[in-house]
Amino acid sequence: MVDFLIVGQGLAGSMLAWELIQRGAKVLLVDNGMPNASQVAAGLINPITGMRFVKSADVDVLLPAAKAYYSLFEQTFGQTFYVEKPMLRIFKDKLEIENATKRFDDASYKSYIKENHLQNEYTGTLNAPLGIVEQEQTGYLLTQPLLECLKAFFIDKGAYLKSDFKIDELQLEPTLRWRDMESKQVIFCEGYQAIQNPWFSWLPFQPVKGEIITVEHSHQLADKMVNFGNWLIPLNDHQARIGATFDRENLNAIPTDSAKEELMLAVNQLMTVPFESHVIRHEANVRPTTLDRNPYLGLHPENNKLAIFNGFGSKGSLQIPWYSQHFSDFLLKNEPLKPSCDIKRHTKKFFVAN
Ligand SMILES: Cc1cc2nc3c(=O)[nH]c(=O)nc-3n(C[C@H](O)[C@H](O)[C@H](O)COP(=O)(O)OP(=O)(O)OC[C@H]3O[C@@H](n4cnc5c(N)ncnc54)[C@H](O)[C@@H]3O)c2cc1C
Repeated sequence: MVDFLIVGQGLAGSMLAWELIQRGAKVLLVDNGMPNASQVAAGLINPITGMRFVKSADVDVLLPAAKAYYSLFEQTFGQTFYVEKPMLRIFKDKLEIENATKRFDDASYKSYIKENHLQNEYTGTLNAPLGIVEQEQTGYLLTQPLLECLKAFFIDKGAYLKSDFKIDELQLEPTLRWRDMESKQVIFCEGYQAIQNPWFSWLPFQPVKGEIITVEHSHQLADKMVNFGNWLIPLNDHQARIGATFDRENLNAIPTDSAKEELMLAVNQLMTVPFESHVIRHEANVRPTTLDRNPYLGLHPENNKLAIFNGFGSKGSLQIPWYSQHFSDFLLKNEPLKPSCDIKRHTKKFFVAN
């Protein structure tokens, strides 16, 4: 008997399972071992995004929680998972410059932007005629080693099973049971595959496929990430990751030549000289994005033994740590969910009684 069966060992299932175990709950994490979005993700955390140059919702709360979580993992597993690195944002037009300039006068943006950096001191390397602003408190999560360490932790605790979780093997009454395992609740953390889950497929997911390339190059790049519509992360002196594409049509994990060409073209336009490089890795997967860009947390409106923790879109690294704590407070202490993430915001449309 366990308290929670968790389906999916991506970042969402792993961090929620970790949090629940730390609080004394008995958990079994079931994952089919397929490549997932979390392994492919660049893990970027960028507090200020978009043309309007505004802070991500709740970033002042989410970012400290994420940093604390990753530092705890670093202490626990004895390796680095979160790499803090500044990000150079290349201005595309005058409007972007105007928006950024407004933020310079805003005290709540002070810790995220380096004010005196509008000049392009990288002229000669980066093609940025309108200038560059340097962002701070940006970085990236090394998702693959983190997921490996967490998996080993769960195996050690007897809390991991590699298996496909088939809904027709789930018995709901009189007690919740999957195969021979009894549980109080099942929490689905299936990433974009939630669209095939008959209990939760009514939620308006808008999954987006993305592709990333890792290249070996012979250029001297600044040790800073670059945001140029796409992004570039220097991994070391001769390797960089470049991403990511957006494709709403082809929801699969197959890397394509067209995405590779799109990314190579973009990076060549970024540089003032041809970018001498070759691709050493090319990966694809699907982001579990939602209609209103907020996560999906909560209980099924007709059966409270079934729960969902999903919908972290392209901000999993920033959001999942804080939301794991928030959902654990809800599950274990009956504390209310924030309305903006609670799936109740969608139930009226699909369930008459609610
Ligand atoms: C190309 C790309 C770039 C990205 N870049 C970033 C970025 O820079 N920063 C950022 O924060 N986020 C980024 N993301 C998004 C990030 O990956 C997600 O927010 C996050 O990883 C989602 O985690 P998840 O656990 O919900 O889903 P997933 O990682 O997809 O995990 C779901 C897991 O559930 C398993 N599963 C599903 N159904 C079943 C079943 N029936 N039985 C057993 N197992 C099952 C799957 O196999 C998988 O292991 C990117 C995503 C992509 C694809």
